[in-house]
Amino acid sequence: MVLLDTPVQFVKGIGPQIAAMLGEKGIATVEDLLYHLPFRYEDRLHPRALSELTPGEMASVIAEVRGTVLLRTRSMPIFEMTVGQGTSSMKCMWFHGTYLEGKFKTGQMVALYGKVEPSRSARGFKMIQPQFEILPEGEAEDETRMLEVGRITPVYESLGGSRLASRWIRRIIYHLLRHLEGHVPETLPAALLSRLEMPNREEALRCVHFPPPGTPMSHLQASATPAHRRLIFEELFYLECGLELKRRKLQQRAGFAFEANEKVREAIRQILPFHPTTAQKRVLAEIVADMRKPAPMRRLLQGDVGSGKTIVALQAMIVAIENGCQAALMAPTEILATQHYLAARKLLEKSSRGYRVVLLTGSLDDDKKKLARRRIFHGEADLVIGTHALIEEKVEFANIGIVVVDEQHRFGVLQRFRLMKKPNAAEPDVLVMTATPIPRTLSLSLYGDLDLSVLDELPPGRTPIITKQVSDERAEDVWKVVREQVRRGHQAYVVYPVIEGSKDDQPELDFAPPEAEPETEIDPKRAKKTAKAAKKSASLFEKPSLKSATEMYENLQATHLKGLRLGLLHGRLDAEEKEIIMRRFQRADIDVLISTTVIEVGVDVPNASVMVIEHAERFGLAQLHQLRGRVGRGAAKSYCILMTGGKISPAAEERLAAMVRTQDGFELAELDLQLRGPGEFFGTRQAGLPDFRIANLLRDRALLELAKQESARFVESPSAEATADERKRVWARLRDAWQRRYGLVEAG
Ligand code: ADP
Ligand code: MG
Repeated sequence: MVLLDTPVQFVKGIGPQIAAMLGEKGIATVEDLLYHLPFRYEDRLHPRALSELTPGEMASVIAEVRGTVLLRTRSMPIFEMTVGQGTSSMKCMWFHGTYLEGKFKTGQMVALYGKVEPSRSARGFKMIQPQFEILPEGEAEDETRMLEVGRITPVYESLGGSRLASRWIRRIIYHLLRHLEGHVPETLPAALLSRLEMPNREEALRCVHFPPPGTPMSHLQASATPAHRRLIFEELFYLECGLELKRRKLQQRAGFAFEANEKVREAIRQILPFHPTTAQKRVLAEIVADMRKPAPMRRLLQGDVGSGKTIVALQAMIVAIENGCQAALMAPTEILATQHYLAARKLLEKSSRGYRVVLLTGSLDDDKKKLARRRIFHGEADLVIGTHALIEEKVEFANIGIVVVDEQHRFGVLQRFRLMKKPNAAEPDVLVMTATPIPRTLSLSLYGDLDLSVLDELPPGRTPIITKQVSDERAEDVWKVVREQVRRGHQAYVVYPVIEGSKDDQPELDFAPPEAEPETEIDPKRAKKTAKAAKKSASLFEKPSLKSATEMYENLQATHLKGLRLGLLHGRLDAEEKEIIMRRFQRADIDVLISTTVIEVGVDVPNASVMVIEHAERFGLAQLHQLRGRVGRGAAKSYCILMTGGKISPAAEERLAAMVRTQDGFELAELDLQLRGPGEFFGTRQAGLPDFRIANLLRDRALLELAKQESARFVESPSAEATADERKRVWARLRDAWQRRYGLVEAG
């Protein structure tokens, strides 16, 4: 008997070979397959008549093939097909359509889906590159036909080439659902479902795959039918349940109850270089209140670039250190870690307490690492500053009291969890800091286990940054601005998307192919993939080559910026080289820092007043905002110059326009979220956020809220609405879901 947890290999029509293909798509079991939902639907119950179409609309059409021809134009081969219904006809065109030759036969019925465009010929319309399916012949077995036409037909993302495309999936799922009738176990308590007016699981699955006639198409396309809502809710409910349990469990764990007495306050005063803003004071008070409680702190500190998060973190860490504990500060890049290290040493030097600060990053040589580790282990380090190395290299602390994670959006939630699991006498407090203003509803729901503090005020004396979009052709003017600022005693950054020649694989390659949105990149494996894709598309579109940091460093030194002191900084330098360059830039021994996006987050040199970003069209919005945040940190007027070369996609144009229009990180984040979708926005894959099967955080905000409420209610009193059996199943599924989806073993 095939059940939900049966490996797909044992499903009729799927053998080991197809199972392997499915496995690559993350589909291992029957259940996985059933949760591969259609990404759109075609109304083949009421297909449109050709004579009724209007230009501009998206339409589903069923028509007969009347003729095909492959046109070999000078630029590319175009496959053209004429389809008809009675006396009406329509043209369909596919560019580079050689692969379609011989695919269609005259007289065949095809289902087409695409945008209706006016045609040059007097009558009728055309569709450019419509999606198509050849429909089974009239005498084909009834059942097959019945899945293709005369119904609302689900269209799936292929699970492996044309072989495992829509039709195949449709048939497999149809048979599975029939076979499983009455055997799809419910995952949510019945009373809960009926209160929320949601269908049971089996019905929901049936309806999303094969919507009954009369289901409004608009609801289907928006994933807003009761069936969709139920499945999305289910996924979010289990996520939120897990978070809720985590939060509760943590509350019961023993943490440090730090004291914040006069002695501690005095210690903090000694290191403060300026008067904190009201917001900084408020936020610190929130943090310290948590630290004084015996339960471990889990707090998210959100504050736009330049709002002054670092000093708040340092103060919190002093509290822990003064209580005899160690403090750790984790940064997403070596450069940022190094900068924090240098800044912390400088600040702490002023204190009479003799704090011992230790830096630990991946590219330190082995001896230094060993030494750092030993000092951390023996409690000879009070403040430890580092990168991932802190978690990845099993650093053991003598007595860690607080962990601060800087620029959290570059770290995974999972890593956050891992760090928290360090063996320790008591659970350390954790403060997570981010400049990404996650929309409040989302952060509260998604980071359900974190309390939120917001730094909503910039330190005094800042002047707004002047942002300009400038085409390459005016480069000379740009360099003039840079020279002028240097003449006035300021410094500048010039940022490039790549380290050197645009051809090789680069860790900092930070752009995607022209159609896709750029994305931040820290995982070299992905960078490689992107680089490959970019290479491919480069050959397709003959993209002009990119200017790179290394080349432009040489070039500018010899030409436009001759006589200025230039520095070159990128991710391939080792830790010491980076430290040297950063120090020199900080001491103003370097006028212009030519760099890649390694300086994107956190770097703080208030004397820098110009940020030039070349190939700005290739950077994502969040990235541009972060980069711009490197200037405007002092009182001097600052400039951000977005240079663009060549063609700019409409999406890139929109990003640049937004940058010029506003400096409000929150507004930019909302726009970014809309432009990129939540997956990319939160950097799902790289940040280790749950990769949802069906939920979409942007679209499903309301359901996320609902799931949060309902999960809290359920965890609070599980027996209120669920039978013993239902509860058992919820806990079991929760454990399973958290293990499988989020890689966490503990739950329930
Ligand atoms: P971010 O929140 O982006 O990490 P930083 O902590 O790097 O910001 O602070 C940005 C700059 O503002 C730094 O140069 C810091 O020294 C300065 N700064 C922070 N708080 C204040 C303050 N209250 N008064 C003056 N300058 C401040
Ligand atoms: Mg910072």
